[in-house]
Parts: sequence; C-alpha cells; structure tokens
Amino acid sequence: MTVKEILAKLVSFPVLGGESNLSIIHWIQNYIENFGIQTTLVPNEDGTKASLHCRIGPSKNGGVILSGHTDVVPVEGQDWHTDPFTLVDKNGTLYARGSADMKGFVACCLATLPAMVEADLKRPIYFAFTYDEEIGCLAAPELIEHIKASYPEQAKYAIIGEPSMLEPVIGKKGICYVQTEVTGSAGHSSGIHKEVSAIHESTHLILWLENKMKQLSQANQDERFDPPHSTIHVGQIKGGVATNIVADYTRFEWDIRVIPHDNIHTIFDEFFAYCKEREKSVQKLFPEFTITNTLLHPPVPALDTKPSDSIVALTQKISGKSTWKTVAFAAEAGQFHEAGYESIICGPGSIEQAHRANEFTTQEQLDRCVTMLENLVTELSK
Ligand SMILES: [Zn+2]
Repeated sequence: MTVKEILAKLVSFPVLGGESNLSIIHWIQNYIENFGIQTTLVPNEDGTKASLHCRIGPSKNGGVILSGHTDVVPVEGQDWHTDPFTLVDKNGTLYARGSADMKGFVACCLATLPAMVEADLKRPIYFAFTYDEEIGCLAAPELIEHIKASYPEQAKYAIIGEPSMLEPVIGKKGICYVQTEVTGSAGHSSGIHKEVSAIHESTHLILWLENKMKQLSQANQDERFDPPHSTIHVGQIKGGVATNIVADYTRFEWDIRVIPHDNIHTIFDEFFAYCKEREKSVQKLFPEFTITNTLLHPPVPALDTKPSDSIVALTQKISGKSTWKTVAFAAEAGQFHEAGYESIICGPGSIEQAHRANEFTTQEQLDRCVTMLENLVTELSK
C-alpha cells in the first residue's frame, strides 16, 4: 500500500481521545504482522483500548523507537468543508482529521515497514503506538514500561512524529491541567461579614497562582522558549447564583506549563500547602469550608534535549534539516525523555493545522517523511 492509501485507511477510524481504539489498532496490528513482524498489544484495564509495540531488526542495544498516537480530537462545532473521516486529496493537499496530528506519521512508519524488513538492520527499529494522547498523554508511561520489560536490549533514541514540518524539535514545556473547587457558606450578601464567600476565597488562590508565575518568570528563564519562563493561567471559573447571594461554591480550572528547569511537583506542593493553610484559618469561622485540588491528568514532563545530544545530529542527518526548534504543545516526547531515551519530535505536516477544521497534510510532507525513515534504515544498517 502507498503511504496515501494507508493514511486514507487510518483516518477512516474516527477514534477520539478517550474512546476505544481497538478498531484502528487491530488494523495496524494486522498490517504489521502481514510482514512477519510479531506485535504486542498493551491493553488498558478493561480491555477497551490498547497500545502496540513491535521490534523490526536484531535484538541489539542502540535502536530507535518511532512513536505515534492513534487517537484524534473531536470535530464538533468546526466548519469542515469535507467529511473529516475521509481523506480528500485536492492537488496534493490531503484533508482529514488526524492527517497532520498524527496519523500521517503513523502512515509513514507503516509505509516504510517493507524497506525496514528487507534491510540488513544492525540496530533495531521499534514502533510504539498509543491511545488517549489527546486527553493528557495517558497511555505512554505504561507502554514505555512495557517496552523496557519486553526486550532484553535497550533502545537509545525515540522519535515522536508529532507534526513539525519535519524540523527537529528538542524542547517543550511540561504541562498539567488542574481543577480547584472551593466550598463556602450560602447566605444573603448583606451578611457577608459572617459568611464565607467561595468566590472571594478563590480570588486569594488565583492571586497566589499569578504571583507564583511572576516569581518563576523572574527566577528562571530559558531562551529556547516563547515566553522564556513557566506560565500559570486560570482559563475557567464558575460560581455564584445572584449578586445578592453569597456564593457557596466555586470551581476554577488552570494550567501550568513549565520550562525544563522548573518542577511541576514542587509548585504543586507549594500551592497545596498554601491551600491547606488557608483552609485551616477559614475553618475557624466556618468548619465546612474546603478547598479541593484535582489534577485533570498526570503531569506530562518537559522535553529537554540538548542541541549537542546525538539524537539531534541523527535527526538532522536523516531529515535533511540542519536546524532545531522548541514548541509549546504537549506530547509524549517528554515521557520518553523522562524514561531515559534521547528524544526528539520530528514529523510531517504542521501543528498549525492540528485540532482545527479542515486539518490537512500534504503528499510532499508524507513523501519527505518516508524518505527520512528510509534514511534512518540506511543509518541503522551501517
Ligand atoms: Zn498529536
């Protein structure tokens, strides 16, 4: 099958983050096994989803993991001009949900598989395909553990094929989404002196977060990123029913994006300690007062590959791009980096098209990515 035919097949599975991906992963598994390669599925707890890994080539140290996710983001409320789950080719521009993010890369991996199988690889290539990436990179940690436990040899590198126009990406911020709930007391606003407003209390917490960001931005800067410091931002707040009623409940959601120098867990610990302190002092007035913090997904670590790391030279050589850059989006690259692999993001298509209506990649990008992977085969056959 050509890379375009494979991509057309992959986009026809409308698997959203959070949904069962068994349809697409079974198709991929079948495709790979037709080339005589043994695959392993790593299912979730109830068996409704699975990641896949396999090795092509010898059981030798120093191999390369090619990583992709099989889920996509929803299309609801977007103005699509074509069916998002049918690949439509308009003069070499290929439209479909997932064409850029990131079934295009998975299609390139699968299209290059015959060449990988035929080659005399001295070091192996692994495929590592996940589910639920789009809702917080949920499956990658377990898949990585499984890969480490399954093979006697250790891979050295991981290339994560998120859309980067095939330019090597060596850094991204760590990220986490958090929900904070505050419960106060209800009552007439005229009695605010003896009530605890959840809205008023929330503002203390939000100001703490804003001040924390200011403090972090002055303490540590990393010029590879824009902005060059960690950010904290409250994106949603809900609470209150009327101007003259004290709000007994507020919920706000915020995100934190840290440069590699800053530690998400340390910042959480400080914030949670502040919440506890605040809770204790307000409970003296109103014992039912609570502040509850919920991480909406486990923190996704930063990607912090050094320009001098050998993965950068390798990726530059096979991609033909002598530059590197950093990005602002979350990806599984941080998790591979944290697990000890030299990791980099490099894939076809542009992140500008990801998550939007009329998402597209191009035949040219796919062809160039296939060439990049063929170059990888050549490098690993030396
Ligand atoms: Zn993606």
